[in-house]
Parts: sequence; structure tokens; C-alpha cells
Amino acid sequence: MYQPKPEWLKIKARSSSMTDDVAQLLSSLSLHTVCEEANCPNLLECFGRSTATFMILGRVCTRNCTFCNVSKGVAKPPDPDEPAHVAQAVAALKLRHVVITSATRDDLEDGGAGHFARTIEAVRSVNRKTVIEVLIPDFQGSTASLETVVSAAPRIINHNIETVPGMYPEVRPMAVYERSLALLEKVKAIDSSMLTKSGIMLGLGETEPEVLDVFSDLRKAGCDFLTAGQYLAPSKQHHPVVEYVHPEVFAGYKEKALAMGFRHVAASPLVRSSYMADQAIEK
Ligand code: SF4
Repeated sequence: MYQPKPEWLKIKARSSSMTDDVAQLLSSLSLHTVCEEANCPNLLECFGRSTATFMILGRVCTRNCTFCNVSKGVAKPPDPDEPAHVAQAVAALKLRHVVITSATRDDLEDGGAGHFARTIEAVRSVNRKTVIEVLIPDFQGSTASLETVVSAAPRIINHNIETVPGMYPEVRPMAVYERSLALLEKVKAIDSSMLTKSGIMLGLGETEPEVLDVFSDLRKAGCDFLTAGQYLAPSKQHHPVVEYVHPEVFAGYKEKALAMGFRHVAASPLVRSSYMADQAIEK
């Protein structure tokens, strides 16, 4: 059933398109940002903070999450020039914090892990000071693929848990809750100094006890940073919004998560997994 958006989600109706020269730069380098793909309301704010999120490995996903607006289908082979192009954009935009993410590429032998590693190394070669965060898929649980990414030494490894385990069959049917938790735990086992992060969307039909259980599972997996934001349905064909969660409820979750030991928590309706990503590090 359609629910009109509450006041707190209407406040921020400002432009989410990037400036022409940035758009030109990215298109000349055949690059895509999640910011554009998701029509993110925080785009200008993030760019204003010299942070941005690049989507590598194409715009097509091999999975079928019902909340996600990324195209599904047969994906193209990775562009071998992409790592260098991302590095060029990071240098041109003087980014202080870059998030590198991708759709899930179950069609690739290593799930795209090698391409992630080459992109991390290319960015580092143009600016050692840029904080590199990668938001990775689950590589179907492959430890070898995860080791490839960890050994490229980004500063933060992010893998979104997205929702509560009870919602996985209808929201993330090709993912496995325990596999996503195990991935975050494995990162710390491979490199205990690596910072890990995860994110959850609220408003898909989960209950508070379920959400708090996810927080506690993430803490048990050694997760350092947490993001929680309101799910917004990209279209009527996607999973419906079951609830618009009040900002005070988000504030309550933030308090409880910090009390559980997360080093940094961003929780409010418009928070996205890369939103204010630089703040977690600055703390
Ligand atoms: S795996 Fe990621 S990109 Fe693919 S459909 Fe799910 S959320 Fe979207």
C-alpha cells in the first residue's frame, strides 16, 4: 500500500545532480558513481566534502535483490582501464575519501576481487593520503577473493548486511546472512588492523528486536562502523516501504549501537552506507 513520505524525508529536496564539469570528467573516463545511479539526495554534500563513491565492474548485477535499483542481467567483461580511470578522477577531484563499490559479479572467477585490488593500488599511486574504503559483495564466501582485497590494504572494508535475516528470502534471495557476517569476521582474521563497516536499511518490515540482534551479530564479527538509513523504494516494482522510521527511533538505535561498542554509527533517515564516510575515520 502506497504511503506518502513523512515531513522528515521532504526536508532535503535539493538538487542531486553533480556540477557539469564533474559530470563531464566522469563520462570522459567512462566512470559511474553510485551517487548518480541511486539519485542520492546527499550527492552535493558528499562532493562538497571531497568524498565520492565509484561503482566499478559495470552497471549490471548478477543477483536480484528486491530493494535495489541496479540493473540485473548479463554483465559485460571488466574494463581493464577502469582502475586507472578511477585514480585519475580521484586526483582530478582531489578526493580525501573515496568509496569503491560494485554490483555482484558471480559470473567472474574471483567475483571481481582482482579488479578491486588493482583499483585500490591505482588510487594509492596517485594520492597516498586519500582514504580508500571499499564496499564489497560477498564473493560467494571465497576466502581467496577476500584475501586479494585485504592484501591491497584499503583503509576500510565495508560489506552491507542490508536487512535482518528473516527478510533475506524476500529482500536478498541470493545472499546468505551468516555468509555476510563471516566475511566481516574473516577480514579481521586476515588483518586485525583493518577497519570494517556494515550497513542496514530500515522500513522493510523488520522489528526492533531483530535489528538489535543484527547489531549484536555485527559486533561479534568485530565490525567497527555501522550505518542505518531509511529504505526508499526505487519504484512500485521494488520491495514496498513497510514503515517510515521516525528520526527519534534512529537516534535510539544509534545510542544502543554505540553502547554495544561500535566505534562510529551514522543512523538517520537519509543516511546511506557511504554518507559522511570520512567522519568515521576522522573520529
Ligand atoms: S547484489 Fe548489490 S547490486 Fe546486486 S541486486 Fe543486490 S544490492 Fe543490488
